Amino acid sequence: MTATTLPAAAPVAVDMGLYPEIQKFGATDISACFSCGTCSATCPMSQTDGTFPRRIIRYAQLGMKDALLSSKELWTCYQCGECSDSCPTKADPSEFMAATRRYAIASYDRTRIAKAMYTNPVVATAVAVVLALFFALFFLSSHGSMAADQLLLWKFIPEDVVHTTGMVVMALVFLAGIVGVIAMIRDVGAKEGVSVKDALGSGAGLGRTVRALWYAVGLESFGQVRFREECDSDETAKALPWYRQRGVVHMMVVWGFMGLFAATILDYGLALINVKATGTPVPVWYPIRLLGTVAGASLLYGVSVLIVDRYRKANRSVTSSMPADWVLLALLWVTAITGFSIELALYLPGAPVWGYWLFVVHVSVAMELVLLAPFMKLAHVIYRPIALFYVSLAQQAKGTTK
Ligand code: SF4
Ligand code: SF4
Repeated sequence: MTATTLPAAAPVAVDMGLYPEIQKFGATDISACFSCGTCSATCPMSQTDGTFPRRIIRYAQLGMKDALLSSKELWTCYQCGECSDSCPTKADPSEFMAATRRYAIASYDRTRIAKAMYTNPVVATAVAVVLALFFALFFLSSHGSMAADQLLLWKFIPEDVVHTTGMVVMALVFLAGIVGVIAMIRDVGAKEGVSVKDALGSGAGLGRTVRALWYAVGLESFGQVRFREECDSDETAKALPWYRQRGVVHMMVVWGFMGLFAATILDYGLALINVKATGTPVPVWYPIRLLGTVAGASLLYGVSVLIVDRYRKANRSVTSSMPADWVLLALLWVTAITGFSIELALYLPGAPVWGYWLFVVHVSVAMELVLLAPFMKLAHVIYRPIALFYVSLAQQAKGTTK
């Protein structure tokens, strides 16, 4: 009788410092977890997207850092908290998943800024304040005159200074974020067995890729379909009025952010093709201005509810907060409220002096917000769609796409 020789399994690197490291990002004590799997059975996202959160917890307990960071499941969790409610040992897997996502953002970031901001409240506060002051002083160094009869903001801070600064900030964000994005695509793609050739190398592959993009970006990022349908499906969430439900509030923040971004791009686009110079006064019904106003209202409402809910620890998704979470909410809120107040100032007779100062605050904080995006929770705007792209490919391969 001849013995069968099995192929050697690939060695798995073990990092026993993994779990203590994740704890620095706010993870609860998961030593109580005995791998019963109740959380995975309860999770509305598990099974269709892979099995979690139990598997992610096991990776952390066993020090399997590479497996953990290449898991698309990290990002398909919406922190609804149902797993924590069902955990018999109160290990709080929901909070553990949130902490692991913070750890992943810091791991993808090669500059180490994200780690410093997440784990050190002094650094998070100092970075937020110093950057805001830096931008404010920079813009003020080039300020012009304050017209007294009309609020002429671009005469106060020249439009080309703001425009050029915005382009530099976007370039820096791209450089800071692209390394992490490539690392994530490479690692998750390898784990899921999807290469660039699979995704783009044939008509069928291209079809799957387009469907996956539509699912990840169209349905999930813009439509927030599963967030609303599955994460707000428990009785506590259903008891809330529709405008307080997490899915709706999250969607208003997403749409507000996207709408303001689109309005800014369109405004610059019209200037490029010489239709309207940036900053030219326009009536309130002017489509781009209307888009900016509605998007700003949506963002302001959504962020205000998020702040109140986080302060009150109103639901499972906000039971614990890191300093960087508050910094992000503060930057979003200040950007939204100053933008709105400037709109108000534009309608007032004459040119209120505070309108000019609010404008400086608004552009400074908005620049800071964009610059810090790769180092805070906002980075999930990129990482989550990438993960959902792989979820869709996996579902198409299994023939389980809805
Ligand atoms: S976190 Fe709780 S529910 Fe999940 S496997 Fe561990 S003990 Fe079970
Ligand atoms: S928080 Fe919700 S989505 Fe995330 S693992 Fe738990 S049950 Fe699943």
